[in-house]
Amino acid sequence: MQELEYQANHDSLTGLPNRIQLHRRATEALRAIAGQPGCLSLMLLDLDRFKEVNDTLGHRTGDALLRLVAQRLQETVAAHQGVVARLGGDEFAMLLPRLPDAARALEIAGEIVRSLYRPTEVEGIFIELGGSIGVAVYPQHGGTSHALLRCADVAMYAAKENSSSVSLYDSSYDEHNPRRLAMITELGSAIRGDQLILHYQPRYHFGSARWCSCEALVRWQHPRLGFIPPGEFVQFAETSELIRPLTLWVARQAVQQMARWHADGLEVGVSINLSTRNLLDITLPDALAGLLSDVGMEPRFLELEITETALMNDPDRAMLVVNRLAELGMHLSVDDFGTGYSSLAYLKRLPLHALKIDRSFVRDMLHDEQDAIIVRSTVGLAHSLGLQVVAEGVEDAETLAGLHRFGCDEAQGYVLSKPLPAEQAGALMRLPPRSIEP
Ligand code: C2E
Ligand code: CA
Ligand code: CA
Repeated sequence: MQELEYQANHDSLTGLPNRIQLHRRATEALRAIAGQPGCLSLMLLDLDRFKEVNDTLGHRTGDALLRLVAQRLQETVAAHQGVVARLGGDEFAMLLPRLPDAARALEIAGEIVRSLYRPTEVEGIFIELGGSIGVAVYPQHGGTSHALLRCADVAMYAAKENSSSVSLYDSSYDEHNPRRLAMITELGSAIRGDQLILHYQPRYHFGSARWCSCEALVRWQHPRLGFIPPGEFVQFAETSELIRPLTLWVARQAVQQMARWHADGLEVGVSINLSTRNLLDITLPDALAGLLSDVGMEPRFLELEITETALMNDPDRAMLVVNRLAELGMHLSVDDFGTGYSSLAYLKRLPLHALKIDRSFVRDMLHDEQDAIIVRSTVGLAHSLGLQVVAEGVEDAETLAGLHRFGCDEAQGYVLSKPLPAEQAGALMRLPPRSIEP
């Protein structure tokens, strides 16, 4: 009997309280705090990349990881007299029954996220853990455990959207919620239909003082919601099965556009962005090669931009895909370089063509000595590895000149050109980029 009751209230994998038990405990705690000073907090945690771990390393490793997460959460939360529950999948909830205020709740949420960041070894494999926490507090956000959990859920999605690790519920997030739902359900038809378009941002080559290439950036013109920036929907595509059709759609458009430019005598390359999940897709390289041969383009004109974070998510698997892409003759660059924590030893083993220095370093390099050092040493490092260096997010002429002095090979940014529709980008790249440096 006791056994049965335990099972009904606990999650069998981790031994943590389950959803039913969480609501019961939260309801008791709400009763206890009613009319008293202070607040109660319900938080929702969603792990980053768990699905990928599960898909690529298997359920056994996935289960082991969840148990380890459960243990870490419990250590941290118990220190604050709280309760951790597993709601299912990689979703965990935390109940902090008595806190002075919402600010304290956010501090604790931060502590919880940091406890996940410690290097994690599961069955001999190092996994980078991370997650997003949505925080709701009583009395501000609701009076029942269900209302609070819903707010925590909305806040958690807001945290994910803003790529922040912790977010406190705000009623304005609710307005974005229907938008989010519409996006998830309509993205598939947007890809098949004609709601997506590509803009192209030209890349300037210092050595030849010419435009050499351009980056294809996707935009979604939604019939009701209006313009939706890629940051908002690429992420949804990533978490669903839509990332492959999206990437192939972008690649097909970009490659066809490039073929038209070449036919008109404008010999520039294009680059497209790959997502984390694209690097787990062993069939992608050949599909891309097929698109190139359909239009008779040499593969070296197509460059694939891959973030450090995507590479490090599953380095061995990524290496298979990356090697195949290079074998087929396509160029590879590391995007947002400097923001992740890829190891040089790993990068050295990849058949890379270029590093794109993240705009956060480029932006302040003339005013921030640290950033200048990063930019300069990245150039040195890349060149010693035989790689080109592209600076992105260049917004003013002084920075552009500085990058040239530092020995940077290419630049991209608003000072040169914003991303433009194909026709305008083509027209711009036909013009010699005269006197763009001071
Ligand atoms: P990213 O790869 O870092 O792309 C560069 C982003 O920086 C673009 O934003 C571009 O408009 C912006 N940018 C360019 N020059 C400047 C500048 O001088 N200053 C500033 N502040 N920003 C500049 P966008 O188009 O909103 O794209 C955002 C991100 O969305 C991209 O970042 C990329 O990670 C992702 N993305 C865009 N298109 C695709 C796609 O087709 N597939 C995938 N997987 N991701 C995409
Ligand atoms: Ca990029
Ligand atoms: Ca970038």
